Amino acid sequence: MFKSKSKIVMVLGLILISLVGGYLTLQRKKTEKANVSKLVESLNKAFADEWLAYYQYWIGAQIVSGPMQSEVIAELKEHAIDELRHADMLAKRIIQLNGIPILEPKQWYEASNCGFLVPTDPNIKKILQQNVKGEQCAISAYKKLLETTKDTDTTTYQMIHEILANEIEHEKDLLNLLKVL
Ligand code: FE
Ligand code: FE
Ligand code: MG
Repeated sequence: MFKSKSKIVMVLGLILISLVGGYLTLQRKKTEKANVSKLVESLNKAFADEWLAYYQYWIGAQIVSGPMQSEVIAELKEHAIDELRHADMLAKRIIQLNGIPILEPKQWYEASNCGFLVPTDPNIKKILQQNVKGEQCAISAYKKLLETTKDTDTTTYQMIHEILANEIEHEKDLLNLLKVL
């Protein structure tokens, strides 16, 4: 009698443990899913920024006028290529995380952290200053992303780290050009 009772208690205990375990796993998976979809949203915001930054540089390189024009155009074009590469990296990571990169260009404006500064004035200093603003915004957005991924997603963290290093260099290059103009 005593033996079978303790057996029942043991079985019930095991059932309880597995139920609690199952419940906790389910909750953990739910949280992970929510975190991943939040991360994908942040990566899509950065993706939108990169396309707008690409166009900011690209269109700037077409219309800019002033002293040292050819050096500035070369730099702007180089940065444009970097921004497009960043968009490529972000899209690939979004897809790895089972997300979808923004499909419609009109959503770039809505999703973007940094927006787009219409280069109505082709003056070389004005163009460079607009790009500096863009880089400063990108740097602060990527620093935030670095914070949110540092303990949770090593792959994304390393990618953001690499992009951030480029943006810091972009800002430095633009400021150096502005100094000598
Ligand atoms: Fe970039
Ligand atoms: Fe940049
Ligand atoms: Mg450069």
